[in-house]
Amino acid sequence: MGGGGAHLSLRVLGCDGSWTGPAGAGSGYLVSSGGTHLVLDLGPGTFANLQLHLDPALVAAVVITHRHPDHWTDLYSLANHARFALGRESIPVYAPSELAARTGLGGSSALDWRPVSDGAAAHVGALGLSFHRTDHAVETLAVRVDGAGWTLGYSADTGTRWALSELGSDLDLALCEASYTVEHEGNPGHMSGRQAGEQAVQAGARRLVLTHRWPTIDGSSVLSEAEAAFGKPVEQAAIGKEFIL
Ligand SMILES: [Zn+2]
Repeated sequence: MGGGGAHLSLRVLGCDGSWTGPAGAGSGYLVSSGGTHLVLDLGPGTFANLQLHLDPALVAAVVITHRHPDHWTDLYSLANHARFALGRESIPVYAPSELAARTGLGGSSALDWRPVSDGAAAHVGALGLSFHRTDHAVETLAVRVDGAGWTLGYSADTGTRWALSELGSDLDLALCEASYTVEHEGNPGHMSGRQAGEQAVQAGARRLVLTHRWPTIDGSSVLSEAEAAFGKPVEQAAIGKEFIL
């Protein structure tokens, strides 16, 4: 747990799961601490929302958790903006090795691809990162972010054959996918609100924020089953919402 008045903040740029709903955006989060700004995932619509909060010139690095397009297609907007508006090159992009070719952006001078895999660690300015492979159809990396003494864990997309506790037993905030409600459990590679709540309990997470909800699923139902499992209030991601540690 941090202290001394220094913060780690999480701003939601988009949180729709698997596809975008009306006025929604795919997965994307701005994490800031100590003057370092990191973007976790960059799904459709998130680059537009990023610019409401930060000059993209100040993005120190991007993490893409996996190749499913709801997590990365706005890399195109980031790269075009860097090239034509900023004249900026070589923005570090941490991602599984297949992403560079998969996105078609492997040759972009705007991006500096840094392949990572299960167990990898990296430092971006004031932030420490570590990556942990989840239970998903393709190589997917959950991310632990340490900054100013605070710890954030992001599940990325995962089913229940992976545990949030792999990110540590000291998470100040768990940003965990909860794509749907209990009726949909068994859909591979994703979790319900109840399962996210159970995962957060097992990991000993202090706060739980739900994300990646399918737009056709009722949010209040996901929230209430997560709270029942977590045993205390749970928060829900929403575009523009900020969580401060
Ligand atoms: Zn997804």
